[in-house]
Amino acid sequence: MKTEMRKQDDVVKLVNISSQKWPPRQRTYLGSLTIASPEEGEAFAVTTIRGCNEVMDLGDKRTIDVAISAREIAEDLVREINGDSGEGSFHGVFVAEGPAPTEAELTDARQKLEMFQRKLVANADLEWERSHNPMFITDLERRAARELHLDKPWLYDPKPLAECPACGERVKAGVAVCRTCRAVLDPEKAAKFGFIGKEVEPLPEADHKKGR
Ligand SMILES: [Zn+2]
Repeated sequence: MKTEMRKQDDVVKLVNISSQKWPPRQRTYLGSLTIASPEEGEAFAVTTIRGCNEVMDLGDKRTIDVAISAREIAEDLVREINGDSGEGSFHGVFVAEGPAPTEAELTDARQKLEMFQRKLVANADLEWERSHNPMFITDLERRAARELHLDKPWLYDPKPLAECPACGERVKAGVAVCRTCRAVLDPEKAAKFGFIGKEVEPLPEADHKKGR
């Protein structure tokens, strides 16, 4: 029995409306496939997916030839890309019914993507309210807010915190004087702002502790 990889004429178009770049998809029957992303100013990008035959070797010179349609391949890729971020997850990739995406298909995809992005932003808002910790905001949530042109406090990188060598409390990087124990952390800066040679009033909190 002669086996060969038969290229199928059957093709579908995988459409991507997101500017996000994904690592190439790996499939035994495809090799490595890069999903096209729209360039600046483009509304979408199209990747042509071709059906193929996978020849499975069963040993003893027996093989099974399995035809995989372009639509099956494309839908499998779409599931993988859209489905990795929890409930309602959508990243802007779909399979066009015809040879090119219709306006209705594009509108539907834009609405689904926006709905998912708004959900991500709402999650990040809740997380921010709870923790005020930008470490708990995901890259996906930040990207969603940027794509929706929303200005959020959790979009900005936090000022790194340092530890006061005198009392061990967390202080903002680059401060002149520790706000907890009043140790001078940067003499030059402290002098410049008049903290040295001047009696520094302790914080009310520190005063209270001292009195106990
Ligand atoms: Zn301190």
